[in-house]
Formats: sequence, structure tokens, C-alpha cells
Amino acid sequence: MEVPEHKEIRELARRFLAERGGALRAYEEEEAFPWPLVEEMAGLGFLGVFVPEALGGAGLDFFAYLALLEEMGGWASLRSILSVQQSLVLTPLLAYGTEAQKARYVPRLARGEVLGAFALTEPEAGSDAASLRTRAHRDGDFYVLEGQKTFISHANVAQVFLVFAKTEPEKGAKGITCFLVEREDGVRTSP
Ligand SMILES: Cc1cc2nc3c(=O)[nH]c(=O)nc-3n(C[C@H](O)[C@H](O)[C@H](O)COP(=O)(O)OP(=O)(O)OC[C@H]3O[C@@H](n4cnc5c(N)ncnc54)[C@H](O)[C@@H]3O)c2cc1C
Repeated sequence: MEVPEHKEIRELARRFLAERGGALRAYEEEEAFPWPLVEEMAGLGFLGVFVPEALGGAGLDFFAYLALLEEMGGWASLRSILSVQQSLVLTPLLAYGTEAQKARYVPRLARGEVLGAFALTEPEAGSDAASLRTRAHRDGDFYVLEGQKTFISHANVAQVFLVFAKTEPEKGAKGITCFLVEREDGVRTSP
């Protein structure tokens, strides 16, 4: 059932699209990343809808987020940005991140100060994600990751990446670990 907060976020989204539809169409036609619109959406709380206010989000529920995605559904670019940031990056971080990871990354992601990406797919590992070849091995206090990913939404604009790599290849799907990697840690991306 829709509560007033859900109707409010729908109304905000409709108004945003009515005012910014022209600009958005131009970005999509030019295949350019709509940074100014992302900043505006961040200001409206659209990038951290279900993130608690204490962590920089709007503090609404998951249905409010779904209502927003429904309204944005006609615009592939914006809808993807919203869902990658929230479904693929913030959701796993909130569910499985350590307190230190949440404190470091969630507020900046929820406020749209940085964008995140979810790097699972590889040239030879799509539907069968467990066959991925990226490896991570321990080197002192660090892990060294080596491998290649493909089809990663936000790859060229993200600062924070959730990267899936095999730490114990002999365990198959059970030997995969998700690492939080920052672009400056040595990530190279191309369109
Ligand atoms: C727009 C877009 C955005 C994406 N964003 C991301 C992202 O942010 N992060 C990320 O990690 N990945 C992302 N992906 C990758 C996406 O998750 C993969 O494309 C998907 O997992 C399928 O893998 P594949 O393309 O290698 O196809 P394949 O796995 O090679 O599959 C090809 C075809 O074979 C079928 N098939 C495969 N296995 C079987 C089987 N066992 N039985 C029957 N049929 C089968 C599939 O249904 C499909 O039709 C994105 C892809 C697209 C198109």
C-alpha cells in the first residue's frame, strides 16, 4: 500500500522529469553521462532513498525506492544510475559491510558525492558467474587482485567498486570474495 512518503517521492520524480526531460534527452542522444542531473537527483535524496538518515540517506523504505524507479522507468540512463548505486552497491554494503566500511562509504554514496559500481561479469563469465577468473591473493596486509571485467555499469564514472574475485578457486562458487576497491587502488577502465 502506498503511504504519503511514496506519493511524495513519485511527485518529486514527476516534477524532476517534467523540468529536466529535455536536458536528459540531449544527454541520452549524445551518450554523455548526465553529471549535473545526477547532482540534482542527489540533492533530492534519490541516490540514497532507503539509506538511514544517520548514514546520509533519505531514510525512507524500499517501496519508496521502487516507486522512484517506476517513475524513472522510461529513462534508461537515469534508472540505471539509480539502481546501480542503490540495488547493486548500497544494498550489499548495508547488508554485509563492516561498520568501518559503512562509515567510510555509505554516506558519500547516499549523498551522490561518489558513484559505485558492481563488477561481477567477465568476458568469459556471464550467467555462470561462478566461473569468473579474477583472482585475489594475499600479500602481507593486502590483497592483490588480478583480472578483467566487462559490461560494468558506471565503470568510467565510479570511484568505488565491488569486485568479485576468487580467493579459494578450489571451492568453486564458495571460494569467491567481494572486495571494496577504490579507483585509485589501481583500477583501469575503458568504454
Ligand atoms: C546494460 C547492461 C548492464 C550491465 N551491468 C552490469 C554490471 O553493472 N555489473 C556486472 O557485473 N554485469 C553487468 N552486466 C552483465 C550482465 O549481468 C551479463 O550480461 C549477464 O550476466 C549475461 O552474461 P553474458 O552477457 O556473458 O551472456 P551469457 O552468459 O553468455 O548468455 C548468453 C545467452 O545464453 C543463455 N544461457 C546462459 N547460460 C544458460 C544455461 N545454463 N541454460 C540456458 N540458457 C543459458 C542466456 O540466457 C543468454 O540468452 C550488464 C549487462 C548489460 C547488458
